[in-house]
Amino acid sequence: MLKPKIPSDEPSRIRTLHRYNVLDTAQEEIFDRITRIASVVAGVPISLVSLIDEERQWFKSRVGLDASETPRDISFCGHAILGDEPFIVPDAAKDHRFSDNPLVTDGPAIRLYAGMPLTVAGGARLGTLCVIDTVPRQLSETQVTALRDLAAITVHQLELRRVAMSDFLTGAFNRQMLGQISKMEISRAQRHQEYFSFAVLDLDHFKQVNDNFGHAVGDAVLVQISGLCKGMLRHEDSFFRLGGEEFGILLANTGLQAALRTMERILRKIEGTRIEADGLAVSITASIGLTEYWPGEESFDDIMRRADAALYEAKGAGRNVVIVG
Ligand code: GH3
Ligand code: MG
Ligand code: MG
Repeated sequence: MLKPKIPSDEPSRIRTLHRYNVLDTAQEEIFDRITRIASVVAGVPISLVSLIDEERQWFKSRVGLDASETPRDISFCGHAILGDEPFIVPDAAKDHRFSDNPLVTDGPAIRLYAGMPLTVAGGARLGTLCVIDTVPRQLSETQVTALRDLAAITVHQLELRRVAMSDFLTGAFNRQMLGQISKMEISRAQRHQEYFSFAVLDLDHFKQVNDNFGHAVGDAVLVQISGLCKGMLRHEDSFFRLGGEEFGILLANTGLQAALRTMERILRKIEGTRIEADGLAVSITASIGLTEYWPGEESFDDIMRRADAALYEAKGAGRNVVIVG
């Protein structure tokens, strides 16, 4: 069996995939409509929207298959994302790359596989729209064309989903997403007796940046500070623009001490960065209010209140500090 190669852009591909915040999310009708149509178009029992994560392929939508994910090692889609063209195997049992693959020798006994890469803006191939049959077959040119169109629609839907979750200027998650992600995080913390920490970061004297250098430079500062913060977080953490020059940071499965170290690193980094915008070099600092989830807490409101109160204290303490609340 030939394991799929790792694409040359893998680290940025994975970062891009996580920016879509789609892995392990609930079924959505629009993607189910696409896989239903794909299986009718191709006349096959199985159709999937498959996303290739580091170690697995995870299915956002599936027709005719029970598993919600399989290891990347044995995936056909892992091969399909290596090129731009449809990846078609008419009879996997007779193909030396796949004949001893457990998905061929065992259930679902793949014979025909046809995967259309899901290529997003910037060129990353996140996964495929694929169809599978359990008998050897060819697809007609018309069928392949229709599947390509469905793959393009799938990408468009992923894009619309992402835009709806993002702040327009910085690309950070918007405030609405804080509601959703915090709810997920609280239920995960309750289920697994885990912690998470939450911080509110507010830029210091930001109004002066606008007043002294203009709104466009202010915007550039917001964009660059967002990038800097996101770059210092792990991909399981979430970064939000709560409004204006105020950001939220949710550190998954992280207790207060570790969170405090990360927040202090972020402040030192912001303080030490000269932000180039419009031919100017701007320096800025930020203040942070940090808190952690308390076991048993049901609502995010109290967590938010503690972080806000701590931020207020940080401003009172002279700014450019983290205060724990
Ligand atoms: P503090 O240290 O107390 O936080 O002072 P501050 O000046 O940062 O806080 P204040 O709330 O007085 O000002 C925030 C400023 O942020 C005012 C507003 O014009 C600016 N702002 C809000 N949203 C944007 C934006 O999208 N772009 C730009 N350029 N400025 C923004
Ligand atoms: Mg401010
Ligand atoms: Mg503010």
